[in-house]
Amino acid sequence: MKAAYVYESEKMDIRELPTPKAGSGEALIEIIYAGVCGSDITMYRGQHPTARLPVVLGHEVFGIVREINGHNGAAPGDATPGDATPGGIRPGDRVTAEPLLFCGECEACRQGFGNVCGKLRLLGLHLNGAYAQYVTAGVDKLVPIKTDIPDKLAALAEPFAVAYHVCARAGLRVGDDALVIGGGPIGNVVAVMARAAGAHVTVSEPNPVRRATVEALGLPSFDPVNGDIKELVAKKTGGIGFDVVIESSGSKAGILSTTDLCKIHGTIVPMALAGTPVDFVLGQVSFKEQTVVGSRVYPFLHFKRGVEMLEKLYADGLPLDPLVSDIMPLSEAQKAVDMMIAGQNACKILLDAKK
Ligand SMILES: [Zn+2]
Ligand SMILES: [Zn+2]
Repeated sequence: MKAAYVYESEKMDIRELPTPKAGSGEALIEIIYAGVCGSDITMYRGQHPTARLPVVLGHEVFGIVREINGHNGAAPGDATPGDATPGGIRPGDRVTAEPLLFCGECEACRQGFGNVCGKLRLLGLHLNGAYAQYVTAGVDKLVPIKTDIPDKLAALAEPFAVAYHVCARAGLRVGDDALVIGGGPIGNVVAVMARAAGAHVTVSEPNPVRRATVEALGLPSFDPVNGDIKELVAKKTGGIGFDVVIESSGSKAGILSTTDLCKIHGTIVPMALAGTPVDFVLGQVSFKEQTVVGSRVYPFLHFKRGVEMLEKLYADGLPLDPLVSDIMPLSEAQKAVDMMIAGQNACKILLDAKK
């Protein structure tokens, strides 16, 4: 099969790799689209805190099940045991796959928090992922996707799961004033999810092209470079400050502004996972008795809920198309990665594994 292979730091090529074999309890998935994510770039640069190169990137999986190996979890009375997962998924079904592999033994796992496992590994970071024609995943990781959703939106399943968990961790409530800092691929999905949760959402984004995407999603945008933060807080919150501030830009200016934008007893969620130190005025958190909450990937329930929300928002007719700005052939994975690094993409880039 064809795959985009990062063989050393900042060096990737398209090469022929053996098609993976579904081991016992695993499914073989033919990739339709793989999403390109910010953490892929960290990995591409060899800067990931736990994963090492070489690897085939890609943890945002969307495709069709081609094979299910050795699973006897068919529904009672099913004529073809061994051919369906416990969730009833069969070859030919469209699926996404939760890309997490946790150890099951560490303290976090023993407490039921596998998403913060001390030895957490991800498909596409610690083992070969979806920038390829095929990938394998455990049958217990598969989540079906309703067939009426267009492929390009179905490919957003994983970012929706991330967004679901962020909103849950933020304790977002109906009627909350929420600010998402950074209107990039993940910030926009978080904003769409926060709106679905009943919040009044504004997205702060300096790039005018990306602000246009925010507006196309039906969300108000704010220009943090030319706009006045005090005016924004006055206009959107009556001067009180936002109940929830979600920082998805990872920028120094964005991170530093969170405590000013957030109200007394409000909640701040820093989404960037980079291991580099950042400036942050901790004293202001105490001064306003704010809460800073971490959020890392998702527990399986939130992964499923993220997919369900994607299906629901599509069924409700919300404008979701602007969330995908570029569909590029897998053979141009290098170009996609370069676009991400340069910030040239208006929103999510998908790789088309058939090309
Ligand atoms: Zn991702
Ligand atoms: Zn663990």
